[in-house]
Amino acid sequence: MASTAQAVTLPKYAQVAVPVHLSKTFTYRLPASMQRDVRLGSRVVVPLGRKPVTAYVVALLPALREGTSLIESEIKEVEQLLDRDPPLTPQVLEVTRWVADYYLAPWGEVMRAALPTGINASVEEVVSITAEGQAQRSAVRSQSNVKTRALNLLAAAGDLDLKTFCLRMGVSRTPKWLRELEADGLVERVHRARSTVTRARKRKMVRLKLHSKDGAEHQSLTRAQHAVIETLRAHQEEMAVGDLIESAGISESPMRTLSKKGMVEIFEEDVRRDPLADAKLPAPDDFQLTPAQGQALDAIEQPLTEGGFAAFLLHGITGSGKTEVYIRSMRTALAQGRGAMMLVPEIALTPILSRRLRANFGDQVAIFHSSLSKGERFDEWARARRGEAQIVIGTRSAVFAPVENLGLVIVDEEHDTSYRQQESPFYNARDTALIRGQKENAVVVLGSATPSLESFHNAQTGKYQYLHLANRIANRPLASAELIDMREVFARAKRPATFSDQLLTAIQQTHARGEQAIILLNRRGYSSFILCRSCGESITCPNCDVTLTYHRSDRTIVCHYCNHRQIAPSVCPVCDSKYIYYVGEGTEQIEEEIRKRFPSLRIARIDRDAASRRHAFEKALLDFGKGELDMLVGTQMLAKGHDFPNVTLVGVVSVDAGLALPDFRAAERTFQLITQVAGRAGRGARGGRVLIQTYHPGHYALRLAATQDYPAFYNEEIRHRRNHGYPPFVALASMLVHHRELRRAQSIALSLRKALNEANSNRACRVLGPAPAPLARLRGEHRLHFLIKSRSRRSVRQLIDTALNAGEFSDTDLRSVNVEIDPVSMM
Ligand code: ADP
Ligand code: ZN
Ligand code: ZN
Repeated sequence: MASTAQAVTLPKYAQVAVPVHLSKTFTYRLPASMQRDVRLGSRVVVPLGRKPVTAYVVALLPALREGTSLIESEIKEVEQLLDRDPPLTPQVLEVTRWVADYYLAPWGEVMRAALPTGINASVEEVVSITAEGQAQRSAVRSQSNVKTRALNLLAAAGDLDLKTFCLRMGVSRTPKWLRELEADGLVERVHRARSTVTRARKRKMVRLKLHSKDGAEHQSLTRAQHAVIETLRAHQEEMAVGDLIESAGISESPMRTLSKKGMVEIFEEDVRRDPLADAKLPAPDDFQLTPAQGQALDAIEQPLTEGGFAAFLLHGITGSGKTEVYIRSMRTALAQGRGAMMLVPEIALTPILSRRLRANFGDQVAIFHSSLSKGERFDEWARARRGEAQIVIGTRSAVFAPVENLGLVIVDEEHDTSYRQQESPFYNARDTALIRGQKENAVVVLGSATPSLESFHNAQTGKYQYLHLANRIANRPLASAELIDMREVFARAKRPATFSDQLLTAIQQTHARGEQAIILLNRRGYSSFILCRSCGESITCPNCDVTLTYHRSDRTIVCHYCNHRQIAPSVCPVCDSKYIYYVGEGTEQIEEEIRKRFPSLRIARIDRDAASRRHAFEKALLDFGKGELDMLVGTQMLAKGHDFPNVTLVGVVSVDAGLALPDFRAAERTFQLITQVAGRAGRGARGGRVLIQTYHPGHYALRLAATQDYPAFYNEEIRHRRNHGYPPFVALASMLVHHRELRRAQSIALSLRKALNEANSNRACRVLGPAPAPLARLRGEHRLHFLIKSRSRRSVRQLIDTALNAGEFSDTDLRSVNVEIDPVSMM
């Protein structure tokens, strides 16, 4: 055994990626002290330029690669090794490499995105006193007062980061005398990762130490001290200090006195920040599966028990019991000793789903999503990393979760665009999930009531196994959807109306029966804005090329891209006319109008604004589920995944804006939205109605969504895609050039076009652009874009890679260029 250990050659160099927008990796020398402990995926501190940064080890080399251009003497050393247990498992590291490669994204950025925010340490400079300094503390006294004070401070306070040190010494910048102390070897300055910003939380606890009956009674104790002892006795002799203070109505000082007397002990304990700490859990499910569910489960279980990669598309209409199939498959994975992962588009919207999993699997479930606090996120991540939680449920970035021995990956609502990250690194979690499944020999299940065209096409061509749940549980009928022609409503009323009589009557009737309703507004590009009747100008954002949205509640107008806010004007800022006028409805306005017409309805509004207030939002959904609200009014968020059996009416106030977007997927998105929202109605025994108000009742996406005819929609849409050369028939990439100065953006775009042309001499791709992006200005930047198409996915990536590395572009230029492979939105 000893001989094999000796045969292992220790790595001498580490190749690292840095979490910034740089696609290069860098090589550093490993000091002997680190060679044994460093691992792939470890975080290290390395000098980069003039500054030390945190980096991730992506390769360990026993010697420099042959033919390298690196010069031995110029290679710098790794300054510090941050982890012995690397936060990135080897499998996850592999997945990040694929993502970086495939999406042409900086590897370090992908790794950063793969870890919870709290763990991405930043580097700080730390000052400490040396042994020499300790010894000479008295000797320096005579020389200079400030130096003595500094040494005394460091001796008393221990290591201090440079900022704090300067602050405590009352100087604003690094003083000269500090350098002198350093030169004399009395203090040391080192770079160090800021003690991981987020870590386990401690709680102060107090425990009773005397157990005999005659303990407290024989001592002379104050009233408060007695209260401490009595309260502890009533609570199994141990509680949190904070709780004791609250329940006994005392301060901490009697506890400290008792602790000195040796009668109680004060200690610290790790507390887990559990996002579902106070949640009421539903009873775990115990159904007999329907035959269709049973078949789907059997199909999934086969590769799951045999081991090996397999991909499924589970196409099940809303309410057909997909979630139940997921849960049973997870159970099988656990029984095989393997972990499972479930991705959902927006978990904050589905508090019910995470509760359902907790109810079934208890603490084996870790929850990952962006609206958790940093602490909660860190704790849940750490539970998965330690292997305590074998199931992870989460949004997009959970695809990188450190689940050990992954057996099953579920992507629910696989068609949802929120799986695509809309900032660098631009990756799609659904597609990444498939790769992760391949790399870990896991089974991947993509589920949806309205599969994306790409996924359904993959099922048709046999790339995925197709599983179908064609009926709702208990054969509940699908809610019938009716299209209401708003042109007729307008012709009758002679003015634009928000609500048709049909919808108003339906709301009234639903309420009269004591049932619930959901009213939805397709807000994408459609909201209340201000228009001047005199000059026709609308008020747009000073930074972005979009109109500002009017918020009635605080009379402000807000940009929904950059959050620019201003008070709504009372006269037109262009022509001073008083006749300004509010066009279009926001959710607030709809809520207000319904409240006016139906004062007895209990209504909550759900939209992006409300969603940023996480608790209010969750509460509204939970209250609605409990029947404490009659109606939810909101945007397309409401269409996703909720299961409210008492909802019998869904109204879509306006659906048309979404159809008009300059995006080849506009019809698909609208179809999905309507089908999904219709699925929210009639999930109980009573059935339901869906009313859709539109100015385009003849559009195939609306007609076929109304009858929930997915196959017909697929056939119609796939024909368009084939004829016009769009995915899945071609691979697509977009490149966006953004810059504050239009001229700069234009000149980068022109150079890019040139480089693309040169790289495309074999004409393997079609390059379109540069053209102004549909949002030509955003957050103060001008935007130009390119579209690149080819039958070969590889050609698209190669073309872009070659063009960007043509040597024409500086790092600053490259920061102005976003590359999106397989973009999901054309905006
Ligand atoms: P989906 O995910 O397809 O929308 P769910 O799995 O949420 O569907 O199921 C819809 C409803 O039917 C849920 O309330 C669920 O508890 C219930 N359900 C699912 N499977 C069964 C079954 N086999 N028997 C009875 N009820 C079921
Ligand atoms: Zn005007
Ligand atoms: Zn803006």
